[in-house]
Amino acid sequence: MQIHGFGLMGRLLCWRLKKAGLRVAWTDPHPASAAGWVAAAMLAPKAEAVLSSPAIFAMGNAALPLWQAWLSELGDIQHGFTGTLVVSHPQDQGLMVDFSRRTECEPCQAGDLEPALADRFGRGLWLSGEGYLDNSALMHRLGALGSSNQGSGEAAIIVDCTGAAAELPDLRAVRGEVARLHAPEVTLTRPVRLLHPRYPLYIVPRPDGRYVVGATEIESRDHSPVSVQSALELLSAAHSLHPGFAEARIESLQVGLRPAFTDNEPKLAWQGNRLSINGLYRHGFMIGPVLAERAVSDITARLGGRHVH
Ligand SMILES: Cc1cc2nc3c(=O)[nH]c(=O)nc-3n(C[C@H](O)[C@H](O)[C@H](O)COP(=O)(O)OP(=O)(O)OC[C@H]3O[C@@H](n4cnc5c(N)ncnc54)[C@H](O)[C@@H]3O)c2cc1C
Repeated sequence: MQIHGFGLMGRLLCWRLKKAGLRVAWTDPHPASAAGWVAAAMLAPKAEAVLSSPAIFAMGNAALPLWQAWLSELGDIQHGFTGTLVVSHPQDQGLMVDFSRRTECEPCQAGDLEPALADRFGRGLWLSGEGYLDNSALMHRLGALGSSNQGSGEAAIIVDCTGAAAELPDLRAVRGEVARLHAPEVTLTRPVRLLHPRYPLYIVPRPDGRYVVGATEIESRDHSPVSVQSALELLSAAHSLHPGFAEARIESLQVGLRPAFTDNEPKLAWQGNRLSINGLYRHGFMIGPVLAERAVSDITARLGGRHVH
């Protein structure tokens, strides 16, 4: 069994296939360039339902209990399942009304959930049960689990997990930029989304007072560094959410390419002995476990229980 692409999907699949008793090898010329390293890794089917299909919503919901089980098995990866808080500035309250009509959420007082926001925000929306995880810790952990047991010889099955680089019809790349900040004065405990007409923003906690602030969404394959305009927008929006970000340190500005088909839905497709898993778009973490389970069951069914390379 050979996996091409050791980004998010390749790593998840490598781990799960090995657990199913298969020998797995992987190839990746640039494993550090995966979008999986850049993502905020929110597990947010309700928030994403405002833009995405019922099928994505269902996959995202089905993945939540899988993540809870997998994260306790993987150990020592920061995560939370205390929901998402959505806020807006007073002049943008109309966006909150529109958002609340389009997904499952409950009205709340922002300061009750996140005391650090009590001074600046009154009413908010709470999307219960949603989660997030530390993408870098997960990628490292899965990388370590996948580093041994490399197969050799001709693979019975090849799995293409090459993300935005895959040569598939209708596959496009959607550039996303994030800032990683160290802001020990800011004490947010869960993902917060700021609705804004021009600069919608999310801020997702990471360990030790760190935050991922994102993200732009630009129809482009350009993988060059973050633009000044994007950095200004992300950082200004973060500062408008909490003034404590003024003293934050910018640890990195990162770019990733989200792989997406025209309908923004993922696809598992067989061609001969080659399985392609792609089009995870902005939901790779949110729906990844469901796709990985589906792929493992397809592959084991094809192999008929044989333990092969
Ligand atoms: C800014 C940003 C924020 C995001 N936030 C979230 C979020 O909050 N929640 C969420 O669920 N998702 C989020 N995502 C989306 C998520 O990161 C992607 O859906 C996911 O990483 C896609 O996984 P993948 O394995 O298909 O691709 P990738 O993770 O990009 O991995 C593809 C790998 O294939 C390798 N490769 C390329 N060509 C070849 C080749 N010829 N041979 C072998 N290997 C090759 C690459 O080097 C790379 O390592 C975000 C993405 C971005 C960019």
